[in-house]
Amino acid sequence: MDLGPVTEEYLSDEAAVPGQADAAGFPCTLAQVAEFMRQAARTPVTVQGARTGLCLGAAPRGGLALNLSRFNRVSRAAYENENLNLTVEAGMTLAALQELLQKGGGENIAEEAGPALAAYASGKQKCFFPPNPTETSATLGGIVACNSAGGHMLAYGGLGNFVRELTVVLGNGEVIKARPGSAEDRLKAGFHPLGLHDAALYIGSEGALGIIAEISLSFSPLPPQRHSLLCSFKDDGQMRSFQEALRQSRVMPRLMTLDYLDRESVDLVMAKKAEISSLRAAPDLDSAACACFLFLELAGPDEKRSLEDLELILQLLEEAGADSEQVLAAGGEAERQRLEVLRHGVVKTANLAHTAIYRARHTLPPFFDLLVNPGQAGETLAWLRSLLPCPGAIFGHMGAGHIHLHLFPENEAQDQAAQGFASRLAVFMGEKGIMPAAAFAAGARRRALLEDTLDDYKKMLRIKQELDPRHLMNRGCLFASPI
Ligand SMILES: Cc1cc2nc3c(=O)[nH]c(=O)nc-3n(C[C@H](O)[C@H](O)[C@H](O)COP(=O)(O)OP(=O)(O)OC[C@H]3O[C@@H](n4cnc5c(N)ncnc54)[C@H](O)[C@@H]3O)c2cc1C
Repeated sequence: MDLGPVTEEYLSDEAAVPGQADAAGFPCTLAQVAEFMRQAARTPVTVQGARTGLCLGAAPRGGLALNLSRFNRVSRAAYENENLNLTVEAGMTLAALQELLQKGGGENIAEEAGPALAAYASGKQKCFFPPNPTETSATLGGIVACNSAGGHMLAYGGLGNFVRELTVVLGNGEVIKARPGSAEDRLKAGFHPLGLHDAALYIGSEGALGIIAEISLSFSPLPPQRHSLLCSFKDDGQMRSFQEALRQSRVMPRLMTLDYLDRESVDLVMAKKAEISSLRAAPDLDSAACACFLFLELAGPDEKRSLEDLELILQLLEEAGADSEQVLAAGGEAERQRLEVLRHGVVKTANLAHTAIYRARHTLPPFFDLLVNPGQAGETLAWLRSLLPCPGAIFGHMGAGHIHLHLFPENEAQDQAAQGFASRLAVFMGEKGIMPAAAFAAGARRRALLEDTLDDYKKMLRIKQELDPRHLMNRGCLFASPI
């Protein structure tokens, strides 16, 4: 495989701060990935998927860029008792996987995978891949490397639940297999300090330990009914009362997603809706009368049960003092997509705001993800709001305990205050035993908070030193360079 010059687009990810690399390779086969790593020898390598990350993880810091976007086929498939298993190459996108599961066919399928996929296509039970970081152009390799489970982790747990095996290319070009071990399902950032052949070691490893080359995936049955709802609340207290009642209700086992969006998050999307075509489908919302929203996604075995669940949700809203008349409920696929556009649009517009700040003042503002237990959510929201050093938006997979904060400083003084906020947050997290959540990855941009707050960080560092003593893989991403 030839190495070529690196064009500008391969120097950065969605954080839009360019890195630097001497050359880039675009392998199309496992053998080429292994050969690339063997030939790189003592040169630093940054592995890239689709570069949709927001944390500079895929932005090279010198050396070579290894871009896997052309290594994107289904290489193997098995279908038995209505269970589908697929082995995909790391560069396959989430959008391509979703289409494949929907249609039972598509492009880039190896010949030997054809018969099992044809059997799946003619079967009754459709499958779906629950991990959903909402950015469907992301690659499966990137999603596994970042442990990007998305909102469905509430019902389906972490990404590791859907990984049956990984093929990993180590720094010296050696190809190994790694399978799920006994590690508990985790939702916090970083990787598990486990053995070389345990898949959990590479989930969340952000390219620092090896190249995730192939991923054997399992799936869940597609629920027959899916409904999405957007509920509004006059304050966090009202939202929390509803959430608590919901948690104790019979609806809970069928709740796939419970995401929180504050007024500022929704306003980010409303402000850009007319300007950005991909946001136009988002519903028009007037956030003036409410402080926050909950986005709910509900799975149902049949229409009758779904309607009963929806009725109960409306009743619980009224009991919590919220206005059930204001609920936006979506049953059909097109309507559900409109609410998804809103949820995805919050991250998109928050990131665009950060890019604009970087272009204006050359400072990339911080953002944070906290993993709190249900009892800590109210206190954490109140703490964050009372100490915000500048405008900010709070959102996240509240049902799974994820609270996310994006800061938007408006001038240089606020830039400094925003950077300083990270140290205060680290102290708060330490006092409360709060870990950074596995959302959006850490990358070079957010490594410092992991160093300060992640309980396993020192163990992770020891593994990094054993596997990559020269610190050639994703230099400066999860681990400072030189270590
Ligand atoms: C609008 C928008 C919304 C988003 N919403 C969410 C969200 O809700 N939740 C969430 O978690 N993320 C979200 N993301 C972030 C992003 O989509 C995910 O982090 C995604 O999982 C990264 O996949 P990628 O292929 O783009 O990886 P890249 O950005 O290319 O790489 C990300 C990291 O993974 C490493 N990596 C990539 N491929 C491999 C591989 N094969 N082997 C080893 N390491 C690898 C890279 O070195 C880098 O450190 C969002 C992004 C955007 C732009």
